[in-house]
Amino acid sequence: MLSTSYIELSKKALKSNLQFVKNRLQPGVKLCSIIKGNAYGHGIELFVPLAEKCGVRRFGVFSADEAFRTSKVQQKKSHIMIMGMIDEAALEWAIENDIEFFVFDLGRLEKSIQIARQMDKKARIHVELETGMNRTGFEKKLIPQVVETIQENASFLKLMGICTHLAGAESIANYYRVKKQRELFHKIKRPFQNLSIKPHFYHMASSAATMRYPKAQLDMVRVGILQYGFFPSQEIRIESFQKIKKDPNPLQRILSWKSSVMSLKTVKKGSFIGYGNAFLASEDMRIASVPVGYFHGFSRSLSNKGRVLIHGHPANVVGTVNMNMMLVDVSHLVGVKPGDEVVLIGNQDESELSVTSFAGQTGEQMNYELLTRLPENIPRQITA
Ligand SMILES: *Cc1c(COP(=O)(O)O)cnc(C)c1O
Repeated sequence: MLSTSYIELSKKALKSNLQFVKNRLQPGVKLCSIIKGNAYGHGIELFVPLAEKCGVRRFGVFSADEAFRTSKVQQKKSHIMIMGMIDEAALEWAIENDIEFFVFDLGRLEKSIQIARQMDKKARIHVELETGMNRTGFEKKLIPQVVETIQENASFLKLMGICTHLAGAESIANYYRVKKQRELFHKIKRPFQNLSIKPHFYHMASSAATMRYPKAQLDMVRVGILQYGFFPSQEIRIESFQKIKKDPNPLQRILSWKSSVMSLKTVKKGSFIGYGNAFLASEDMRIASVPVGYFHGFSRSLSNKGRVLIHGHPANVVGTVNMNMMLVDVSHLVGVKPGDEVVLIGNQDESELSVTSFAGQTGEQMNYELLTRLPENIPRQITA
């Protein structure tokens, strides 16, 4: 193995998470698997074919580069939908290759029509409406103009969807804001129903809304975090536990992150370990070096706090996390030797280190950020 650590993706876990989501969908609702942020850190190149094997046929990405990577590795004729950035050159590529994309301003709408006309192809657009998130989306007052433009250029467009995004369905504190958004969406989408080309799908729900507001599932849900085995928030997790008493842990983490012991040494009581005075040995200690540091995505904030698993037991990080390695206390373990497996996230024997414990704290939304920070260049492999 040339790399200092590797990531494993469990096919079984993904299958089970997708089934969990599907069990919660209203009849006929389509699932779009959201794989922006390098498939939430799991790795687009491995995740896409794996998800296709599990029956996924729709993917949502943020940008054209992610769509390009997806198109390179897809094995079926899956739909790819860009929800964010796409410049003019990429727009040509997208239209040429039947890649779907969000349209949320007149500039992009007009450009798409112009390119589609030149290519004699249909641009596959999802019209995003502003309902209260105030991020991207057509303002209500622009809708007549959008509808008219689409009507006039109907032969160059495939109206794949009319959509919006909810500003935080994972927190009950946003209940009224989200409710207003849902109401507004239903009101302002009406003019699109009278078009000669009918919208294929109406969609607004991410993981949280899919779980909490089944009526918001409309024709399609855009599910990210759930499929990777995490609830979008503690609230949604607790809420679903109340509904599914039989199965207290219905989602499974797909991802594991592993390395191995590089070297070992004994340190005398009273010595500082690592840089500076961050850690003082209060007794004789056995210390293992692990070739993973903040360069590899193991945060420096886990200095003296983080834990890893060795021989099925937790071992504490001692001193500061360095750029390329960390030191861990293995004084309590017998017979640790170079090459022994070190688990940074995942299971070893009966023990587990979750992504949240890896965060060192249990803040809302932490899973999203933590996962996507896992570097792209760590080798990834699929396990059963
Ligand atoms: C990221 C994203 C989603 C998926 O969100 P999850 O909470 O991970 O399910 C859905 N829609 C849009 C527009 C997004 O940006």
